[in-house]
Amino acid sequence: MEFLSQRVNSLAVSQTLAMSQKSTELRAQGVDVINLSVGEPDFHTPKHIKDAAARAIDENFTFYSPVPGYLSLRKAICEKLRKENRLTFAPEQIVVSTGAKQALCNVILSTINPGDEVIIPTPAWVSYVEMVKLAEGITVDVPAGIDNNFKITPAQLEAAITERTRMILLCSPSNPTGSVYTKDELQALVNVLARHPQIIVLSDEIYEHINYTGSFTSLGSFPEIADRTVIINGVSKAYAMTGWRIGYCAAPLAIAKACSKLQGQYTSGTCSIAQKAAEEAYTGPQDCIAEMREAFRRRRDLVVELASKIPGFKVNEPQGAFYLFPEVSALMGKRCGDRVINTSADLAMYLLEEGHVATVDGGAFCAPGYIRFSYATSDDNLREAMRRIAEAVARLH
Ligand code: PMP
Ligand code: GLU
Repeated sequence: MEFLSQRVNSLAVSQTLAMSQKSTELRAQGVDVINLSVGEPDFHTPKHIKDAAARAIDENFTFYSPVPGYLSLRKAICEKLRKENRLTFAPEQIVVSTGAKQALCNVILSTINPGDEVIIPTPAWVSYVEMVKLAEGITVDVPAGIDNNFKITPAQLEAAITERTRMILLCSPSNPTGSVYTKDELQALVNVLARHPQIIVLSDEIYEHINYTGSFTSLGSFPEIADRTVIINGVSKAYAMTGWRIGYCAAPLAIAKACSKLQGQYTSGTCSIAQKAAEEAYTGPQDCIAEMREAFRRRRDLVVELASKIPGFKVNEPQGAFYLFPEVSALMGKRCGDRVINTSADLAMYLLEEGHVATVDGGAFCAPGYIRFSYATSDDNLREAMRRIAEAVARLH
């Protein structure tokens, strides 16, 4: 007897998490795998933030928290949005969730009806398509390859819009490509969106601070679309707090209230202690952000230099996040003994099993023909991983 719903049966497993799990299993078997699959800062959470969590326990912040998050945290987020992004939000417009992941899913489930179209520029992070599927929406991919630095054009956006389009989901700096849209590029997309007032703009800004261009423009700052733009952000990447599970949406009031209603029925307010830690992250010293960004920038330079020397890898210079997304189609059809590499998924598996480096197939990001690796790890690991990849690729003929 089949007990599972069609909903869950039609859902794909998160490939970022699956590859990371596979590499953990191989390590447990004694294989020395370098894990460049899952994307998370390798730094420890800064001490003042951990201390705030310890204080929260001592001060008995151990009861249910308000569904949308403590007011003090939502005020701190409003202040962050005002200071860093020049955006005006009231605490009632903020809903704090179990990671940016839940914040995204809340917004999608709160706004998308079956059959609604959601435009997703691709390559795109693994979970977007699956979340839209959960809402029974239809995803409309708008592809941009490495030759365009993975950025879509206004003409492409215009061509993708129909009367059923309900949302566009944009991520800059991008996971998996590291591309960052400039203010002018965003303005050009906004000019198109301004002509289509039925479209909600969902802007995933989780990599805001891991940005090497020196400037970041939030999509919330364009007056033409401000009243229908939802910002997603959180502490996972900027403050090295992936395990604490704190993210949020900043949304028009009706959407925020809907997210809170939804969340109230299936998770309630997120962890009280983690919320107190996040409040300290937003209100305490900010030097950790720049320090980590500098480390990521140095590693970006290292990995671009090493990866671009690997025959068959076509590499661009990502401007943010901590991923490199080389195009590898030149390696398709090559073989090592009996093993044939027909797809980028085959290549990712080959690199894991033969090179002992875990990466993620571009297919997971709606971009077969590419692979993703995260460079959020030590210089030594990166050098060794690139050496292993180069060696494994050299064995392909
Ligand atoms: N959006 C993007 C683009 C991400 O890469 C991630 C991290 N996987 C998330 C959202 C979710 O972040 P969080 O850890 O806050 O759930
Ligand atoms: N940002 C990470 C990644 O894309 C986290 C894993 C996930 O949640 O998908 O690898």
